[in-house]
Amino acid sequence: MSKSLTIEAIELWMHHFATEIIGQEVWLTELDSAIGDADHGINMVRGAHSITSLLGEGSTGSIRELFKAVGMALISRVGGASGSLYGSLFLEMSTNSPQGTQIQATEFQAALRAGVNAVVARGHAQIGDKTMIDVLEPASVALTESITNGVELHEAIAAATTAASAGTQSTKPLVARKGRASYLGERSAGHIDPGAASSGILIHSLHTSISAGSVR
Ligand code: ADP
Ligand code: MG
Repeated sequence: MSKSLTIEAIELWMHHFATEIIGQEVWLTELDSAIGDADHGINMVRGAHSITSLLGEGSTGSIRELFKAVGMALISRVGGASGSLYGSLFLEMSTNSPQGTQIQATEFQAALRAGVNAVVARGHAQIGDKTMIDVLEPASVALTESITNGVELHEAIAAATTAASAGTQSTKPLVARKGRASYLGERSAGHIDPGAASSGILIHSLHTSISAGSVR
């Protein structure tokens, strides 16, 4: 029964995240052109390239250092509202992660919880505001509930991914109450929120990365 993630699994997660973001650049930009300023794909792809290059530099030594490096890279390269929000997520996950090369399931859910709390503390968005929180919050809740109930880590991550997908879709009919899209008022309804889409990709990439061998 898998109870922890190795640093290799986390590196693979970040690799898949970067690759998926690059693959979905056009979609992310389309979403942001509908309700924002058409730069979310461009912003996130800059961040994805910085993640890819830091992964190429070799291991950071610990999961704590890896999340910190990702957070710093996103803050310095993504820009926009999303850069500092994703930066907060990863820096807080870093602070709540071990110095070693393995993270227990219970530590991992707590780290994601703390990271999502940091995004809320920075952006003050709640569920229903049509932001990345509509994905990150239910994904974190599903992970925490599953782990707390003794669900195996693979399945807990699958549950978080299902919650993330539902969260991404849930933003479509919503009227934005935070960020640039909120300037559109009622006209923001009818489109998936771009940050919710990229956060959905983040959680999906975690699921993709937990193939055999990366979890033990
Ligand atoms: P900008 O809005 O500055 O152009 P991006 O286009 O990169 O930045 O990112 C926009 C996304 O950021 C939104 O789709 C939304 O998900 C997220 N976002 C914006 N403001 C907030 C906030 N206060 N809290 C949470 N997420 C937010
Ligand atoms: Mg934008």
